[in-house]
Amino acid sequence: MLTVRELRAGYGNVDVLHGISFDVRPAECVALVGANGAGKSTALRCVCGLVRARAGSIEFEGARIDHVPGHRIVRRGITMCPEGRQVFADMSVLENLRMGGHMRRDRDQRRDLEALFDMFPALRPRARQRAGTLSGGEQEMLAIARALMSRPKLCIFDEPSLGLAPKIVDEVERTLARIKANGTTVLLVEQNASMALRLADRAYVLEAGNIVLEGSGQELQTHPEVSKAYLGY
Ligand code: ATP
Repeated sequence: MLTVRELRAGYGNVDVLHGISFDVRPAECVALVGANGAGKSTALRCVCGLVRARAGSIEFEGARIDHVPGHRIVRRGITMCPEGRQVFADMSVLENLRMGGHMRRDRDQRRDLEALFDMFPALRPRARQRAGTLSGGEQEMLAIARALMSRPKLCIFDEPSLGLAPKIVDEVERTLARIKANGTTVLLVEQNASMALRLADRAYVLEAGNIVLEGSGQELQTHPEVSKAYLGY
């Protein structure tokens, strides 16, 4: 579904990604794990068209997207749930969800809203509440629900567990597992490597802008270098 080859990207004079290649197949959950600053978010931003590739290629469903503007990439079926949630703080929960589906022209949006309120029951009684007044965990659920409102083929999550209490992190993990079980393809970036590797069918380890290891989530969970560097045992 997604084929990234020899991708180079960076900011100003500095290259952050030094030619990385990775794939995401339909209905897979693929994780990029690695330390702070390794370039994980930059890789995601390139896929979404928010940072331009300096070299290499990005193909989605067989077509190059590395020169396609971000808003057109969303229309092709790639949606990002951004790091730090970035809900529209002054808009209500319902308005945030409608924004997630703003480019849709079909008549199923009302049904999807209902389904999302069923999936995230804490959001239903808060539908008219300003999103900025929600707790961090509720905002994360809203950011995930907003991403799903676009009915993405590929849903990208950037650090969904960041800054959340352990109980909420468990809820995020269960939610992502459910999204994957529903057939949505997932690309996940996480510093919480143990969570990411539990969820991932396959994963790539990124170090200083290079992919240094790849394997199934299960293989990497027991890989000595990964467990020492990222899992803390
Ligand atoms: P984190 O978990 O901290 O987000 P990461 O692996 O996702 O880590 P990136 O956010 O991709 O890493 O950052 C990679 C490098 O690029 C870092 O050195 C970071 O300081 C730098 N960087 C990220 N965004 C920008 C930007 N907008 N302008 C300049 N440098 C940036």
